[in-house]
Amino acid sequence: MKQVKYVISLGSNLGDRLEILKAAIESIRLFAHVEAVSSFYETDPVGGPEQPDYLNAVLLATTDLLPELVLTELQKIESAAGRVREVRWGARTLDLDLITAGDIEQESDFLTLPHPRAHERAFVLQPWLEIEPDGQIPGKGWIKALLSALESQE
Ligand code: ATP
Ligand code: CA
Ligand code: CA
Repeated sequence: MKQVKYVISLGSNLGDRLEILKAAIESIRLFAHVEAVSSFYETDPVGGPEQPDYLNAVLLATTDLLPELVLTELQKIESAAGRVREVRWGARTLDLDLITAGDIEQESDFLTLPHPRAHERAFVLQPWLEIEPDGQIPGKGWIKALLSALESQE
């Protein structure tokens, strides 16, 4: 298969967040070519129960692996970081989401692309914009415009 460009978001709000995110990035390097990593952003939790602040980042990576395989790898990294699945949108040591995979659009319980909520999340759009100013979400548009729209809602 040809090389696909992936946008992956990383978040942690339990434990040593910075170390957990850095270790996750190193693990992603084992199966994909990591081309850019954003700064780390401290963000307020959105939705879900009362919980600590997150540390978030976004990275760009290319690989010829299929999206389902990439998500499976990301889930292994989450488990290795001691993630336990409890309350939906609750606190977690590590959350790795596949935001986009090139221009692929697909929908299933296991994997929906682009990520269905990414376009309305500043904690994804802001770090992404830093490393890819002309980034786009297929079907949604420029991330710069999406972020401005969110900011003007506030
Ligand atoms: P949200 O999806 O709103 O960010 P979350 O990250 O807390 O919430 P999880 O519990 O981590 O949700 O994931 C729930 C399920 O979402 C996973 O089992 C996974 O198979 C599925 N999923 C579907 N599309 C994606 C995607 N693009 N990236 C990551 N997981 C996805
Ligand atoms: Ca998530
Ligand atoms: Ca997730």
